[in-house]
Amino acid sequence: MTTYIFNPPVIQSLAIRGRSERFPINRLFFVGRNYHAHAVEMGKPVDKSIERPFYFTKAPQTLVENNATVAYPPETQNYHFEMEMVVAIGEAGFRLSAENAHKLIYGYAAGLDMTRRDLQLVARDKGRPWDLGKDVEQSSVCTEIVPMQGQIISEGAIALEVNGIVKQSSNVNKLIWDIRELIADLSKFYHLEPGDLIYTGTPEGVGPLLPGDKVTGRVEGIGEIAFTVGLAEKP
Ligand code: MN
Repeated sequence: MTTYIFNPPVIQSLAIRGRSERFPINRLFFVGRNYHAHAVEMGKPVDKSIERPFYFTKAPQTLVENNATVAYPPETQNYHFEMEMVVAIGEAGFRLSAENAHKLIYGYAAGLDMTRRDLQLVARDKGRPWDLGKDVEQSSVCTEIVPMQGQIISEGAIALEVNGIVKQSSNVNKLIWDIRELIADLSKFYHLEPGDLIYTGTPEGVGPLLPGDKVTGRVEGIGEIAFTVGLAEKP
């Protein structure tokens, strides 16, 4: 048996609707600019005829379960919400065609891609990595996984409110690259593995949060998410 000099990192996991076993997390992939109206609000419109999707990753340790209260993160003045549909991968696959992409799907969840927007935009505009803006501790919020093996979701309302006021309201049928296209494209770069999550991008309406704000959101047919911003840690 391997022994370690300190306790190794805990395996992150999510609850699965209707099961006692949990879904262990391997990697967290995020799709950038995957709704036209959001790409425009970020000042970077997408032309699908000449572009491919792009991705960033966050450490699995950034995962946060539904209904959490998370401290306002350090080193930002512009902490943003992004409501997203999340695909949970349940089978290994590499270089899949779009036609075969559904075979990798275990299920779906609703998620929040919490972002230090000020740091992300500085990094973007200076050509630096996005990690300080995106790979934020406790920034990958996710509901339980809803098992929907082999199913492609191509339609359904996606919405988010802050303190009960609607901020984001769209439909996953507006994804620029749909679920089949995303899995096929990502599988050209990575050997996808069971336990990988793909956050599929956020619609328009992203905005800042302050301590005390309560976020609620949902993806129709999948689930509801809730998230509360706590006070920043004292210096
Ligand atoms: Mn996002």
